[in-house]
Amino acid sequence: MSRQCTLAEEVCMEGVGVHTGKHARVTVKPADAGTGIVFHAGGQRIPALAEYVVSTDRCTALGMDGVRVMTVEHLLSALAGTGVDNAHIEVEGEEIPVLDGSALPWVERFQQAGLCEQAVERRCVALTRPVSVMAGDRGIWAMPHPERLLISTVHYDHPLVGTQVAWFNLDKINYQEEIAPARTFGFWEEVEALLARGKALGGSLDNALVIFPDHYSVPPRFPDEVLRHKVLDFIGDMVLVGAQVRALFVAVKPSHTLNTAFALALRQAIQGEST
Ligand SMILES: [Zn+2]
Repeated sequence: MSRQCTLAEEVCMEGVGVHTGKHARVTVKPADAGTGIVFHAGGQRIPALAEYVVSTDRCTALGMDGVRVMTVEHLLSALAGTGVDNAHIEVEGEEIPVLDGSALPWVERFQQAGLCEQAVERRCVALTRPVSVMAGDRGIWAMPHPERLLISTVHYDHPLVGTQVAWFNLDKINYQEEIAPARTFGFWEEVEALLARGKALGGSLDNALVIFPDHYSVPPRFPDEVLRHKVLDFIGDMVLVGAQVRALFVAVKPSHTLNTAFALALRQAIQGEST
């Protein structure tokens, strides 16, 4: 068993959102044990839990009473990957800054701030029955298992990406080196279409890996950076379960829509389960 952690001091970051192109200022503050991750925006208190998801179009957005915070997933992933269980996140703006498109800038700032161990055990629930969510050729499954393992696969009909598969032990992973640096990606045709829809307004070659028909916009940080970014997103969206779940996870072509539906199903499955 391990104890819950919070940040030793607050961390502040500013920047533009990848979808809105709008500037925001985010302050991540220490919180008491048992708080979980809670966003504060527009006078609302929005817990980072699956029932507060209001949109999954290209990013995960949380909201309440007309106030929304977009693109929470990389910040949530960085918190989970660094071992931060409790935090108050104040957002001045409507979208979490994309920074370099990865979770690494957040992780580096959290490590500079340091972690503070708290007097309460971390909630880690053993899954007692399988849970799955499927949609077309995509799916996420969780099966009871003593360790938190993740097998993930993506497939894109593109010569530079194709099929990528990897597995990670989420309890032993070196998140900072193996996952956090993987950047948001987009295929060039898709990026053009998004701009036409008024999306990806803050996207640039500085904060996303753009995949052209025969080359990347910048050298990839990993041969399978696309898959690793999907794992980064998955880890972030799983914060919305509200507890760590001991299970073998299999994610086939995961998306924010699938991840958050799965987080809700998992959250319902573990209600009443003891740690
Ligand atoms: Zn992402």
